Amino acid sequence: MGRITLDKVSKAFGDVEVIPPLDLTIDDGEFVVFVGPSGCGKSTLLRLIAGLEDVSGGQIRIDGEDATMAPPAKRGLAMVFQSYALYPHMSVRKNIAFPMKMAGIPKEEQDRRIESAAKALNLTDYLDRRPGQLSGGQRQRVAIGRAIVREPAAFLFDEPLSNLDAALRVGMRLEISELHKRLDTTMIYVTHDQVEAMTMADKIVVLRAGVIEQVGSPLELYRTPRNLFVAGFIGSPKMNLLGGAISAKYGVATIGIRPEHLNIDAKEGAWKGTVGVSEHLGSDTFFHVALEGVDEPLTVRAGGEVQMTYGDTVYLTPDEKHLHRFGADGLRIA
Ligand code: ADP
Ligand code: MG
Repeated sequence: MGRITLDKVSKAFGDVEVIPPLDLTIDDGEFVVFVGPSGCGKSTLLRLIAGLEDVSGGQIRIDGEDATMAPPAKRGLAMVFQSYALYPHMSVRKNIAFPMKMAGIPKEEQDRRIESAAKALNLTDYLDRRPGQLSGGQRQRVAIGRAIVREPAAFLFDEPLSNLDAALRVGMRLEISELHKRLDTTMIYVTHDQVEAMTMADKIVVLRAGVIEQVGSPLELYRTPRNLFVAGFIGSPKMNLLGGAISAKYGVATIGIRPEHLNIDAKEGAWKGTVGVSEHLGSDTFFHVALEGVDEPLTVRAGGEVQMTYGDTVYLTPDEKHLHRFGADGLRIA
């Protein structure tokens, strides 16, 4: 079990309210990602759930039980941090066994859980090594192993992949997703990286300045961002947001169109512009196109083979059914 409910949970450090009262339900077995810019309160929220910080107000329930005042060890949750904090002088086996030893779990049961965690994490051949003899990715797996053997109601991850290089991050992302499918245990995962959020989450919680801006599945957030902040935060490259004469034509304050929903053509189309810098990724090409009277260039996603020359005149046509409309208050209109 691992259903976690936050009811008007708030947090202030001194006079500074970092998290105004907030409600959130995390269902048993769900993979929930807290995402938002640095300093928005993701770690604080996770630490409140873990019991590493006291709430300033509200209630936290874990599987129906009031856990608001419970010490971390009594909450049945396991936290995995960005820094792995392994004991360098202990073998992998002893590192993984450590929390069980502390909890007084019998030796045979410890061994059973170590074998099973090692198997799930592809660490079986490394159990007798020390952390210094492992790669960064393997060390992070040991840290996860140490969490698994506690058989927690939920795993809490705070930016666990930030210390790894880009290629390793992609690999570990898949491993953690795979682990979630196999263990079927609730996971709460904090990241500032919207790509991690999109690729891993069942449910994304977008935070800004301690406030939940939107909760939804990756595709819900992608297709129907409820405000300008979510529209600009989810999706890479970012959604193009246009005000002025273009949005006025649609009778709204801002329209949004994603780079993949703009067609680029040398001869005709809705909006006339000038090609700026092109980014050739091989699979795709991103063109930056300046429209007359629009400050920021628009980003257009085209196929890998498409060629346009810097300075050429082009025409952009938005795919009307993928236009996002926002009012002066920044909220989505229908
Ligand atoms: P994130 O993890 O999203 O980057 P944090 O939860 O770490 O953000 O921080 C949220 C805000 O709370 C920041 O403004 C940070 O400076 C502040 N904060 C975090 N911990 C403390 C603390 N122990 N004392 C005072 N302010 C803190
Ligand atoms: Mg943080």
